[in-house]
Amino acid sequence: MLPGDALYDAARQVDNAAIDRRPAAIMVARDVEDVLATLALSLASGRALAVRAGGHSTPGHGVAEDAVVLDMSGMRGIEIDAVTGTAWVEAGATAGEVTADVHRAGFAIPFGDSGTVGVAGLTLGGGIGWLVRRHGLTIDSLLAAEVIIAAGDRLIASSTENPELFWALRGGGGNFGLVTRFRFNLHPVDTVLAGRVLVPATPGVLRRLIGVLSGAPDGLTVIAGLFPAPLMPEIPDAWHGRLLASLRFAHSGPIADDQSVLDLLRSIGPCVADSVGRKPYPALFPPPSGARMAYAVRTLFVDDLDERAIEIVEGRMAAPSSPEAWIQLRVLGGAAARVANDETAFGHRDRRATATLIAPYEDLTETARHEAWTADFEAELLAAGCGSGAYVNFLGSDGEAALNAAYPPATLARLADAKRRYDPGNLFRSNLNVPPGPGGASG
Ligand SMILES: Cc1cc2nc3c(=O)[nH]c(=O)nc-3n(C[C@H](O)[C@H](O)[C@H](O)COP(=O)(O)OP(=O)(O)OC[C@H]3O[C@@H](n4cnc5c(N)ncnc54)[C@H](O)[C@@H]3O)c2cc1C
Repeated sequence: MLPGDALYDAARQVDNAAIDRRPAAIMVARDVEDVLATLALSLASGRALAVRAGGHSTPGHGVAEDAVVLDMSGMRGIEIDAVTGTAWVEAGATAGEVTADVHRAGFAIPFGDSGTVGVAGLTLGGGIGWLVRRHGLTIDSLLAAEVIIAAGDRLIASSTENPELFWALRGGGGNFGLVTRFRFNLHPVDTVLAGRVLVPATPGVLRRLIGVLSGAPDGLTVIAGLFPAPLMPEIPDAWHGRLLASLRFAHSGPIADDQSVLDLLRSIGPCVADSVGRKPYPALFPPPSGARMAYAVRTLFVDDLDERAIEIVEGRMAAPSSPEAWIQLRVLGGAAARVANDETAFGHRDRRATATLIAPYEDLTETARHEAWTADFEAELLAAGCGSGAYVNFLGSDGEAALNAAYPPATLARLADAKRRYDPGNLFRSNLNVPPGPGGASG
């Protein structure tokens, strides 16, 4: 698609409505030949190549000004091998459709918490979702990837073939090549106990939250949202405007443990409201609802919320830039933490939680105000020593500070080596860009 074509304006949209870029051409790939042709077009035209799968990158890496966009959404095949408990998934598939398909065969892959997110972008950054404490990050279930590198070669990356590329793909993002399909290990998961428990976000609750949940049984994963209580039928009026913690959770452990897990959740604070039930795992990925929104996002890792952090949270949430602003806490640990920091390019296995500051909005003339609120909030937490580092897939900004937050120094140096080996000309740079290192590639 080219500027002026009927479908061009729809095709250049990504999930974050704040992103408004006009690429030179958009190619929707249907097979590997289309991917190779798009790579050739980008090289021949001297234009940057932006790659898009599910289009959910917050900084909008899947579309770039005057670039060639490779849209993988025409490649969504899924091949399940129930005997080996593995599946090949093409790079344009979304987490929701793959989850539904593998569920029919009795399995799950640990993706995120949202069905519309692309398997490709999610996996290449790490992948933190409902099964993270039981089965690890998405990359911990990745067995292999088929990759087209900048030179046009088609490679398999796995623990036995091109292992350094395989290491880099597991957390290093789209820096190293065009992934056409992924091979995943499948896990037998049928139903989960899931729902949410609403508790007041008092200082006592906030102090306890991460410690209690990171020590919970591996089967329990909680994604907590902190926000001022809205006017909703299930929330008593007395709570309106006060800071609440919504503990959305999934328990994929034995049914016999359901009650003890619920007791643990309810011990965190007095329950304002809850809704809980056993459901098929794909029910955690409902179809998207509501209009496309713009959002400003900042993110960091936190290991606990101490008094200073709680003061900052309370102060900032008392004067948000958007009435819908919220903080998302994802408690890690469990299986994700039993992988060494240097085993993959996700080098934050020892961190206990992600804290993501989110300001959704509609009025695009207000972008600077929402960006400033989230950036100042993050800066205050960092300056007070309340957190550090960042999960690459949750970053809302680019640049050197983001790169250094996403990758510890040893990880970044090794990624730069891999970049020099697989993309020395930095063709794949519409991402959190790892510049090619000066030398010494190995693998
Ligand atoms: C609503 C929402 C919910 C989210 N939930 C979660 C969650 O639960 N867990 C989590 O870990 N993250 C989550 N994320 C973050 C998400 O994982 C990242 O934004 C991810 O990059 C999105 O992948 P995508 O394919 O949809 O995005 P895209 O914008 O299409 O791709 C992002 C980048 O990935 C790279 N890429 C994509 N496809 C390929 C390919 N085939 N080959 C090479 N590189 C490629 C490119 O650099 C591209 O720019 C969420 C984001 C949003 C907006």
